[in-house]
Amino acid sequence: MQTPWHCQTSDDALATLISSPAGLTREEAGRRLAAHGPNRLQDKGRRGPLAMLLDQFKDFMIVVLVAAAVISGALGEAVDTVAIVAIVILNAVVGFVQEYRAEKAMEALQQMAAPAAVALRDGSPHNVPATDLVPGDIVLLEAGRVVPADLRLLEAATLKVEEAALTGESEAVEKDTAALPEQELAVGDRRNMAYKGTFIAHGRGKGVVTATGMATELGKIAAMLQETAEAKTPLQKRLAAFGKRLAMAVLVICGVVFAAGLLRGEEPVRMLLTAISLAVAAIPEALPAVVTIALALGARKMVRQSALVRKLPAVETLGSVTYICSDKTGTLTLNRMTVEEAQVDGRCGRVDELGLPRWQESAATGLMQRPPALFLAALAVSNDAHPDKNGELLGDPTETALAALAARYGLTRGELEKLLPRVAELPFDSERKCMTTIHRLPAGLASQSGLAGARFLALTKGAAEALTERAVTVLLASGLQPLDRPALLAAADGMAADGLRVLGVGYRLWAELPAAMTPETMETELTMLGLAGLLDPPRQEAAEAVRLCRSAGIRPVMITGDHPATARAIARRLAILADGAGVVTGRELAAMPPADLAARVEGIRVYARVAPEQKLDIVRALQERGHYVAMTGDGVNDAPALKRADIGVAMGLTGTDVSKEASAMILLDDNFATIVKAVREGRKIYDNIRKFVKYLLTTNAGEIWTLFLAPFLGLPIPLLPIHILWINLVTDSLPALALSAEPAESDIMDRPPRRPDESIFAHGLGAHAIWVGLVMAAVVLGLEAWLLNTGAAHWQTEVFTVLCLTQLGHVLAIRSEEQSLFRQGLRSNLFLLAAVAVTFGLQLATIYVPFLNQVFRTVPLSPADLGMTVLLSGVVFVAVELEKWVKRRRSRRRDARR
Ligand code: ATP
Repeated sequence: MQTPWHCQTSDDALATLISSPAGLTREEAGRRLAAHGPNRLQDKGRRGPLAMLLDQFKDFMIVVLVAAAVISGALGEAVDTVAIVAIVILNAVVGFVQEYRAEKAMEALQQMAAPAAVALRDGSPHNVPATDLVPGDIVLLEAGRVVPADLRLLEAATLKVEEAALTGESEAVEKDTAALPEQELAVGDRRNMAYKGTFIAHGRGKGVVTATGMATELGKIAAMLQETAEAKTPLQKRLAAFGKRLAMAVLVICGVVFAAGLLRGEEPVRMLLTAISLAVAAIPEALPAVVTIALALGARKMVRQSALVRKLPAVETLGSVTYICSDKTGTLTLNRMTVEEAQVDGRCGRVDELGLPRWQESAATGLMQRPPALFLAALAVSNDAHPDKNGELLGDPTETALAALAARYGLTRGELEKLLPRVAELPFDSERKCMTTIHRLPAGLASQSGLAGARFLALTKGAAEALTERAVTVLLASGLQPLDRPALLAAADGMAADGLRVLGVGYRLWAELPAAMTPETMETELTMLGLAGLLDPPRQEAAEAVRLCRSAGIRPVMITGDHPATARAIARRLAILADGAGVVTGRELAAMPPADLAARVEGIRVYARVAPEQKLDIVRALQERGHYVAMTGDGVNDAPALKRADIGVAMGLTGTDVSKEASAMILLDDNFATIVKAVREGRKIYDNIRKFVKYLLTTNAGEIWTLFLAPFLGLPIPLLPIHILWINLVTDSLPALALSAEPAESDIMDRPPRRPDESIFAHGLGAHAIWVGLVMAAVVLGLEAWLLNTGAAHWQTEVFTVLCLTQLGHVLAIRSEEQSLFRQGLRSNLFLLAAVAVTFGLQLATIYVPFLNQVFRTVPLSPADLGMTVLLSGVVFVAVELEKWVKRRRSRRRDARR
């Protein structure tokens, strides 16, 4: 049996896996992928297309329809039976196609959100989809990444892994690379391994893939992890509950209609069929499904605008957002940094005016006594940016900017590391706001360093105050001097007030390195070298997005790890902060009792020098005040706030895997403006769902009123079962679906956010359905009474046609909540126009195609009669236009009063 991976040395593990520290070649990786299959957990939960199709027939209402078909068949009503069966099949096919599209759309989105991994292929790092990893691949790890496969670690720099997914232990485990003696070790104790599905909480590392897909430890327990039923969105839940209640009410009404018909002396069988058809038609069985479809297809559309939705309810809740809390760097700014100003050797100014020295080999000897040269060298070598094949710098923009400055003066990390090899490091973390690299000092430099026996040079760079706090001296050309802290801080503040991000650089010499290299031991008693001021211009589109937020009643808030002065300058430029308004710092926030924060939180627009953990306090305080919060984040420590926020928003380009997994939405372009676009899209989707519900309920109400009132008015039941089913199928499907293509209303970003607890029936939707339904019934029954009075033989054809066409007039009128159709223009939703035209054509077919005359028991109408039905159908259209006119007048009055 093979020795367990954790008992093998890293060299043995590489040999067993027939790999090397340079990783696999692309061809070899391809071969192994074919042999081992993709690195993916099998998903057992998903329904296949057949199951999805069969599910369509499980619906209670379809069962009722089938029963209706059987009853009419038994009664010898062959045409009705065939028609009902056709309707059942059509219904199922339409439902299936929609659901399938929705599912595919969500699947595609989920795939886009799947994490990638960095693997060595042909000797250099490549971004590959995590599913393409194979045993033997060398994978690079850094804080925030999800471990993509099981790995035997080859390198671990203060590497800590959070293994809760596997072990349930939420404390991160410190990792190293030494082989372990015991064979039988619990997963959590195998310190030289990292397992798929866990994530890197801290540090960097490298490992060789030992297992992928179902062969991983996670794969072994995957069956237990299979997520069961997908969570429904609040709207879906509410509508499903409403649908059930309505179904009950409808059944009662149908009972009454049936009884009233019998009392009037209608034929019992016909009355039974009528009641059943009415039940089928009036129960909005499609409602929850339609919401899913609208949300899923909306989500697919949003991805084209760079907003990738991970959790479906987000689409719906976007419309309720009242606060957008955004990071600064990269979201509100371009994250394209350049060093503009610097302070070194006691002089402060624009970099090109400081006369910084060009690097020459000979300069190396005097390096430790020449602050400007040592400053540039520190920027170059205490830096993780690295050039790609074309020489372009890759890495964190702050670091690439510093590396680019050093490169301008002839210093590169690659060259300098030959002189100052890196032996250890304390990676950057946004809590301490600095990082340290430790380098072996060659004897030549050590001798002039000022410390007898110096063997190591520790270079620390980070936020200006963090450095000044930790420094005691400063290196000037004239030698070491005590640090004038206030003067240095004043220089940093000056740069920050111009909107620059200010980093300080310092060093410390060591003869012997301490046994425990921690920030506490290494980042103290520093000697300052200088400051660098980096410009990161605000995004142009961000200012417009901030303006839109304002008009839409959404408050934008900036939360940044940067200096308060830098934050203030950028926030002013973007109009997030009004002149004179203050900035709250992380320190002030930490000192604030929760009650104080809750009292003040609504007025605070900018938080600076905030640790990621504090974002959680801000979200909580805002939520306590009843707000709906969208919060951006990119780091590991942002995850709790992202989860807690109503909409957690992760960065697609710069975000860590962990932040992405915690979020409901990912910005593919990291851009603040994209959040605002998503809010607009979310509002539109919600509006359209409302329009859909309005249309469906009103149609149903029209049918119910008609059939319910007819007997009470002493009229025969105006419609045959087939007519009711036809209206349910044709008018309800095409125009209703086309409503989801309705463009956003022009005032969509001029109104306040929707209250999250607002019912979908708010703003008079329920009342609309009831009274417009009543108008429909009045028109239909009035026409019936008049035609029967005049003894017209074609009365039923006309009544059927009016009820159908009325729906088309109605759908056109409800395209906008308030705006009139004449203002909106017919061409702004061509889908709907086409749907109305097709439905109109189909209705004409039921009147004029001889075969259909038999099916629908209709007779061809004369042009005059047809003209009259069209005119009468317009009544509802006019009534709803009037309703909107009243609403518009009311809104105008309200606006005037404000
Ligand atoms: P924002 O919150 O606006 O997006 P950010 O997330 O970039 O900003 P952090 O990454 O937490 O903020 O950085 C906080 C501070 O740490 C910065 O202002 C800077 O002074 C310092 N800093 C950032 N990157 C580095 C780095 N690579 N090395 C050393 N210090 C850094």
